[in-house]
Amino acid sequence: MKETQEEYDYVIVGSGFGGAVSALRLSEKGYKVLVIEKGKWFQKKDFPKSNWNLKKWLWLPTFRFFGIFKMTMLKDVTIVSGTGVGGGSLVYANTLPRPHKAFYSRGNWKGLTDWETELEPHYTEAERMLGAAKNPKLFDSDKALFELAKIYNKENEFEAANVSVFFGEPEKEVSDPYFNGEGPEREGCRFCGGCMTGCRYNAKNSLDKNYLYLAQKNGAKIQAERIVKKIVPYGKDDGSEGYIVTHQSSTSLIKSTQLVVAKGIVFSGGVLGTVRLLLDMKKKKQLPNLSPAVGDHIRTNNENLAFVVAKKSDKDYSKGLAIGSIFPPNEDGHIETVRYRTGSSFWKTFILPMVFNKKAIVRIPKLLLKIIFQPWILGRAWFAKDFAKQTVILLFMQHLDSTLKFKRGLFNLKSTMSSGKKATPFINEAGDLANKMSKIINGEPFMVNVDLITGAPSTAHILGGAVIGENQKDGVIDSKQHVFGYKNMLVCDGSAISANLGVNPSLTITAMTERAMSFISNKEQ
Ligand SMILES: Cc1cc2nc3c(=O)[nH]c(=O)nc-3n(C[C@H](O)[C@H](O)[C@H](O)COP(=O)(O)OP(=O)(O)OC[C@H]3O[C@@H](n4cnc5c(N)ncnc54)[C@H](O)[C@@H]3O)c2cc1C
Ligand code: SF4
Repeated sequence: MKETQEEYDYVIVGSGFGGAVSALRLSEKGYKVLVIEKGKWFQKKDFPKSNWNLKKWLWLPTFRFFGIFKMTMLKDVTIVSGTGVGGGSLVYANTLPRPHKAFYSRGNWKGLTDWETELEPHYTEAERMLGAAKNPKLFDSDKALFELAKIYNKENEFEAANVSVFFGEPEKEVSDPYFNGEGPEREGCRFCGGCMTGCRYNAKNSLDKNYLYLAQKNGAKIQAERIVKKIVPYGKDDGSEGYIVTHQSSTSLIKSTQLVVAKGIVFSGGVLGTVRLLLDMKKKKQLPNLSPAVGDHIRTNNENLAFVVAKKSDKDYSKGLAIGSIFPPNEDGHIETVRYRTGSSFWKTFILPMVFNKKAIVRIPKLLLKIIFQPWILGRAWFAKDFAKQTVILLFMQHLDSTLKFKRGLFNLKSTMSSGKKATPFINEAGDLANKMSKIINGEPFMVNVDLITGAPSTAHILGGAVIGENQKDGVIDSKQHVFGYKNMLVCDGSAISANLGVNPSLTITAMTERAMSFISNKEQ
C-alpha cells in the first residue's frame, strides 16, 4: 500500500548523534524537519533490568526482539551498535573523550582545513549540550585500573572519565538542569552500572533528553519504527528540486510503505545504516552520481575487549558508571574499564579463556586443550555467583591505522581489507594488560568467543565509509559534509569520520555535525 507524499525541508535518516544534532540545528534555523528512525521510542521503564532480557535488550527483528543493542557479524569485524530514538546514546557507555592531535592531520580530510582549530568551539558546544562532566566517584573496578596504571608508571595520567550523565541527587526528580528549564526533568545517577542496557533512572544524558527533546519542541517530527529504504531525486538528477524518500515499518509484520518529499536529506543512520543505504542506492542507480569511495576507508579503533573474571566475589566490579576511568598505557593506546550492572551476566555465554595467537591452526587446538584439561577456568565464569559483580571488562583502543572496505552482499554488507595491517583482536599490549589485571584482582582473562574463533575483532566504534575528501574520487562528502554529485544532501554521523580516531567517537561525531550545521543558512521566509 502506498500513501501520498508529505513535504519537508529536510528528512533526517536516523536519530543517533549526527541525526539528533542535525534535527535541533535545522529546526532552529526554521526548517520543517522529519527524523525517521528504525528503532523504538523508549521510556525509562522500558529498558531491561538485565541483559538476560534479550527481547528488550537486543535488536533482532527476525526473532521479534526490538531492543537497543545490535550485533552484526562480518568477515573482518563484528560490530555492536545502538538502535532506537537516540541511536547509540541509548546503549553507549557515556564516555566523551576528545581525540589526540594526530586525528586532525591524517586520513582523507588531511590538509583541507585546520580541523583542530575549526572544530574546537564545536567540541565545547557538544560537551555543553551532552552535559559532559567528570565522573565524581570511582569504584572497585576503577581502583583496579588505577593499580594497573601504577604498574605502567602512568598513575599521573589515570583519569576519571568525562561522561554525559547527570550527577544530581539520586531518586529525586528536578527540573531541567542543563537548558534553562527548557529540557526535561531529570534524576541523579545511582552508579548502578546499567548504562549499556539503558538507564532506568533518567540520569543518562541520552539524545532524547537534549538535542532530540529540544528539536521536537521546535516542531521537528520524529517517526520511530520506520526504516528508510530508498531515496531518489525528485525532478532534476542532482536533487536540486528535492528528493522522494521511501520508508517502511521496521517492527510490524505488514511492511506498509510511505513516501515523503524533502528538499534536503541528512544521512545519519550510523555506518551500518548510512553506508548500506548509499551502497544500495548507488548499485540500483537510484543515486548514480555517488562517489566510488562509498564503503571505503572504514576504520575501527583497532580495539581489544577482554573480560577478567575474579576467582572470589569479595568485591563488586559492577558498581559505578559503565565506563568510569581511563589511562594511556602507551603512546598509541587507551584503556578503559567497562561494566554491566549486577545480574547482567549474558556475556558469560559469549566468552572463552584467552588464547593469543594469530594463527587459527595453533590457537584453536590450544584453546581446546585449555577447555579440556583446565575446565575449571571456563567453569569459574559460567558458575560465578554474579558474573557482572566479579568481572572487570577492559577496552583497549589504539591510534594505529588500517582500513576496511564494505560492499553490498546478497543479504548484508560484505567486508574486505582496504589498507594497512589487518585489524586483530590479538594485540600483545592488550593481552599483557589483561594478564596484569588478572594478577591485580586474582582472576582469569577471557575474550569474546567470536573474536577468538574467527580471529576478527569486535568493535563498538565502526567509523568511516562516507568520508570527507578533496574531490569525488577521494571522498563521498566535501569538507562541509555535503555529498559530492548531489544538492542539499549531507552525511552527518560516524561514516563521516575521516581519520583514525583512537578514542570513543560520539563527542567527535557531535562536534563535526555541529560544524556542518553551522554552514547551513536560516530558512528564507
Ligand atoms: C555498547 C556500546 C557502548 C558504547 N560506548 C561508547 C562510549 O562510551 N563513548 C562513545 O563515544 N561511543 C560509544 N559507543 C559508540 C557510539 O554509540 C557510536 O559511535 C555512535 O552512536 C554513532 O553515532 P552515529 O551518529 O554515527 O549513529 P548511531 O548513534 O549509530 O545512530 C544511527 C541511528 O540510525 C538508525 N538507522 C540506521 N539505518 C536507518 C534507516 N535506513 N532508516 C531509519 N533509521 C536508521 C539506527 O537505528 C540508529 O538509531 C558505544 C557503542 C556501543 C554499542
Ligand atoms: S550508572 Fe545507572 S543511573 Fe547512572 S547513568 Fe548509568 S544506568 Fe543511569
